[in-house]
Amino acid sequence: MSGSGVLMSGIGIHISKNDINLIFDELENNRPFEACGVLIGSQEGGIITVKMAVPVKNSNRTERSFELDPTEFYNAWNSAEKDGFEIVGVYHTHPSSPAKPSAWDKDTMQNTSDVWVIAGIDGISAYRMAEGMVETVEMI
Ligand SMILES: [Zn+2]
Repeated sequence: MSGSGVLMSGIGIHISKNDINLIFDELENNRPFEACGVLIGSQEGGIITVKMAVPVKNSNRTERSFELDPTEFYNAWNSAEKDGFEIVGVYHTHPSSPAKPSAWDKDTMQNTSDVWVIAGIDGISAYRMAEGMVETVEMI
């Protein structure tokens, strides 16, 4: 899992099979564009548990980047808070490239401590940025 010089972060994320299927459905349904959404759940110790993946409109619909629609993002955040959960990560899809952060992703990840889940043509992987380096987050 830790190929291409990517470090392991020492934290893990659990996403249910249903939510993984949802993310891959989003990948297929939004082809050739990237799809995106938020992961709602909780975090304890080094373990992030995703309760549900919530699709969010990609307001900058391209084949190489995404932008979470601010209104839909706010609504997802608000309903998570009401249920006592938080947004623990963001997912997006790579309909024609591997599940690895692109150059654009790495630049964008600099501004956030969220876990990024990427679904691509070779599977699904999770990452986060720590001190300017991309780390792999183990999917557990
Ligand atoms: Zn990407």
